[in-house]
Amino acid sequence: MTQDINIFKVIYLYNEGIKKFDFKTLKDFLEDNFGKIKVYLIRLKSKVVHTQGLLFDLRGTKKAFEAGGYAKDEDACHIVLTERLFATLGQDRRPHIRASIYSFPSVISTSGIVEGPAKPKEFYLYKQKYTSIGAWDIKEAGIKKKFKSRFIDYRDTRLTEVLKGYIAQAIFFYIFGEPFCQHKNCRLFNAHWQEDLIHAQIKHGKFCKRHRKFLTKIKTACPYGRQGGLK
Ligand SMILES: [Zn+2]
Repeated sequence: MTQDINIFKVIYLYNEGIKKFDFKTLKDFLEDNFGKIKVYLIRLKSKVVHTQGLLFDLRGTKKAFEAGGYAKDEDACHIVLTERLFATLGQDRRPHIRASIYSFPSVISTSGIVEGPAKPKEFYLYKQKYTSIGAWDIKEAGIKKKFKSRFIDYRDTRLTEVLKGYIAQAIFFYIFGEPFCQHKNCRLFNAHWQEDLIHAQIKHGKFCKRHRKFLTKIKTACPYGRQGGLK
């Protein structure tokens, strides 16, 4: 099936209070993989990500985003980066913490990256054990150090590298309506475990063969899909 691709000219990254990430590295990654696009970083003056309790409030977020005048450029991919933690209801009708929401705008939460994908089971066993004897406060730093290579934590120096994958997912959602890939060796893998996240974004840190082909097509396509299509 051939599909026209709707290429944007601009990516706007809106920073809602994230302190530790490297914009230049993200910009280089986006240009290397998606071609000649402009990437802008905009610091939000007021918060746009809304929740009701812990649940992500899509309508409230869209409304605040539009009220701020940010959605004016319709030929652009809009991505909000926030520290705010949010959840959506799973099929089991229980709230599940999310690292990202792919919509218009897309929202990526750094706290959600830490709290969303599950840590290794052994970590929770240590936590349970030391919490039960009231020693978690003094043991936490040591245990986290022991598991450093197996999950992303707050103020983690690997955050920028992980953000690359989530931003790529937001862009694939914007172009194709599908942000994810089923292959663990792809930056578009929807990781439910921290170890899978680290594998996809840091240890492997590449796109799968199929998505590399997509990227080549995206790079060579004219804006608004005037040229060619995707097979
Ligand atoms: Zn893939």
